[in-house]
Amino acid sequence: MLCNNIGVNSAGHLTFAGLDTTALAAKHQTPLYLMDEDRIRANCRLYKEAMSASFGEGSYPLYASKAASFKHMYEIMAEEGMSIDLVSSGEICTAVKAHFPMERSFFHGNSKTDFDISYAMDCGVGHFVIDNLTELEAVSAEAQRRGICQKILLRLTPGIDPHTYEAVATGKVDSKFGLAIETGQAEEIVRRALELPALELLGYHCHVGSQVFDEDGTVYLDAADIFLRFSAEMQARYGFFPAVLNLGGGFGVRYTEDDPHVDIPGNIRTIANHMRARCAALNIPMPAVLMEPGRSIVADAGMTLYTVGTVKEVPGYKNYVSIDGGMTDNPRYALYGSRYTVLSATAPLSEADLPCDLVGRCCESGDIIQPAIALPKPQRGDIIAVCTTGAYNYSMASNYNRIPRPSVVMLRGGEDFVAVRRESLEDLVRNDL
Ligand SMILES: *Cc1c(COP(=O)(O)O)cnc(C)c1O
Repeated sequence: MLCNNIGVNSAGHLTFAGLDTTALAAKHQTPLYLMDEDRIRANCRLYKEAMSASFGEGSYPLYASKAASFKHMYEIMAEEGMSIDLVSSGEICTAVKAHFPMERSFFHGNSKTDFDISYAMDCGVGHFVIDNLTELEAVSAEAQRRGICQKILLRLTPGIDPHTYEAVATGKVDSKFGLAIETGQAEEIVRRALELPALELLGYHCHVGSQVFDEDGTVYLDAADIFLRFSAEMQARYGFFPAVLNLGGGFGVRYTEDDPHVDIPGNIRTIANHMRARCAALNIPMPAVLMEPGRSIVADAGMTLYTVGTVKEVPGYKNYVSIDGGMTDNPRYALYGSRYTVLSATAPLSEADLPCDLVGRCCESGDIIQPAIALPKPQRGDIIAVCTTGAYNYSMASNYNRIPRPSVVMLRGGEDFVAVRRESLEDLVRNDL
């Protein structure tokens, strides 16, 4: 199986986190997001332990909560001692409602509004990750007005192509995120940040991209090299050395059997050893290191269940299996052409004899969950499972075609409970006047 939380039980049904998925579909209705809470917690511990073992005290992971943001996720992160990334007032509000200790939060975004800045300060967000000079001035002015000193990091772009999808590559010089070292704008914002008394500059941030496999390890090592060299230069010029370097997120996960497995502790160890050697060569101290995994914390903890509506055969062309969800609950194929593993939950061991496209119910030809797969020929009412949907599925869901968003059901220690209720038809018209 793709992941060891997926199996088949004695009834011949697909299981997830040890529970019968067809029974979960019957109990909670479909479409349904399942989240394996034990896996989420194990993934957090993997990062925490690897980072403190390799980088030492003061280095830790932040969960990039845009991957899956709802109250219970922040409760898990609080309990696991994780810090978090937030990218909007909505995520901040959700974390606050979950009683997350906000001093452990980092506020990202390339276009924070005046409201966002002020709301984040009201909520005690610990750190702002500043994207550009205009924002630096705006955050400084608001901190000054409040008589506080706001901790910040500066988002810089190292000018690296992580060789992932264009839409999720963020570390290139011409990125919409951050300021480039190459153009001199990074130095300019460091100089300015150091002049502003209401801001405390802690260090630098970069995020090179997402779903990075980096089998030869160069992307993170190159980014670290560029940042250490830049840190040494800034120290020589302005006497400022960063207490922390945030290397961002981005480790890839296995969506299909063809994807490689990323050895996260091994990668972290390699990065740490490399950075220590570079720091020694540059004669600078080793800063604390932060990393911001999103996908690799939650993706393999997720599975989506659907009910089959029709099987349409277009003789001589192709077959369509239509389900009761689609791009509204999972837009990733439509956005990125993302690959997924699709299984029959009803009959996972039957021969996959029907070549087909798994398509959604929206009025868009592009509403495809996954093309060119094979399934045991399903009947109306069969349950289909799409694996590895824990990241960027619920969080990217929409109400297109006025389709209610599915519920999120957590699986923990062999029990299931609802973390996010299914939207009702009434919910859909709640704000219509
Ligand atoms: C999206 C994002 C992440 C998380 O990326 P993953 O690929 O989900 O690990 C981390 N940091 C920043 C700034 C991001 O925008």
